[in-house]
Amino acid sequence: MKGMMKAQVLERIRHYEYKEVPIPEINDDEVLVKVKYCGICGSDWGSYTGKYADEVECIPLITGHEVYGTVAEVGKNAQGINVGDRVTYDICITCGTCYHCRIGQPLLCSNFKQIGIHTDGGFAEYVKVPWKNIYHVPDEVTDEQAAFVEPLTACLNASHKMECEIGRSVVVIGAGLGIMHAQLAKLRGAAPVIVTDADPYRLEIAKKVCADYVINVREKDPVEEVMRLTGGIGADFVLEAVGNSKTYEQAFKMVRKGGKVEAFGICAEDDFASLPPVEFVTSEKKISGSCAGISYDWADALNLIRYKRVDPMPLISAIVPLEQLEETVNEIRTNHKLIKVLVSPQTHERVNFYED
Ligand SMILES: [Zn+2]
Ligand SMILES: [Zn+2]
Repeated sequence: MKGMMKAQVLERIRHYEYKEVPIPEINDDEVLVKVKYCGICGSDWGSYTGKYADEVECIPLITGHEVYGTVAEVGKNAQGINVGDRVTYDICITCGTCYHCRIGQPLLCSNFKQIGIHTDGGFAEYVKVPWKNIYHVPDEVTDEQAAFVEPLTACLNASHKMECEIGRSVVVIGAGLGIMHAQLAKLRGAAPVIVTDADPYRLEIAKKVCADYVINVREKDPVEEVMRLTGGIGADFVLEAVGNSKTYEQAFKMVRKGGKVEAFGICAEDDFASLPPVEFVTSEKKISGSCAGISYDWADALNLIRYKRVDPMPLISAIVPLEQLEETVNEIRTNHKLIKVLVSPQTHERVNFYED
């Protein structure tokens, strides 16, 4: 499709330029998606502020990777995809030939790229995607819910790695995307599910949606409180969804002997946490991590929303027009009522789903 489109181009660190750029040209193996929504992710703040060196190298770039849209153009080799189809897509591009790909760990691919993080993404009217990455959105899933599929895939991957069994206790540190982690823990039969945060508004949502207990870390010591709620044993699983070395240290303290800390929150590259190695040995504490969703996670996420096992809507706080991206990315740092914000090139008015 020839022509120009509106896009937010991250021209340099802390500067988006809202401008006209050419519509991406697709090859025979690609599909052009007309963006209806693109969610703002914590990692967009990372790209914007230049937190990660490998991402800075990609600037200038159109960021944005949590996309729902409709198919605008289809490459010759694409199968089962038609113009107008409602879609979302796996953002991971892997090489298939490196060591990690060949032993079945494609998320660790040595040539790993993600659409909207390393290549042009969804803060634009159109984005191009390899046709094999496309997933159709079922009728039962709304446009807004479909924009939450990518963050849900990341949570799902963490849930797989954590391997929580029915009846085990789970603490989720952080009531942002953490609320989705808590929903998945509950779905796996975890009991109790405990969520910690410093923000009463977010804790209230966590409580309403799924948490058995919430802990306001401004009012109570979270480690002591988790110990109390678990009869002095500690939690079977603690998932860190903040990305702070202090909360990682907390997680390690509140997990029981033999329990596991699941690392999800992304710290800066030069952040370090101090963990007593003796507890890996004598207490058999474990840590695993997970960085994103990939392939089948997309189908799973769509099914979980379609069959109402999880609902992302309590986490979607607002829809803003594409032209307001930069101010919104900054506003998210201070307005704690903004959990997930969807950006749309198809609207000119902001809609809030929360009360002031
Ligand atoms: Zn994301
Ligand atoms: Zn690879």
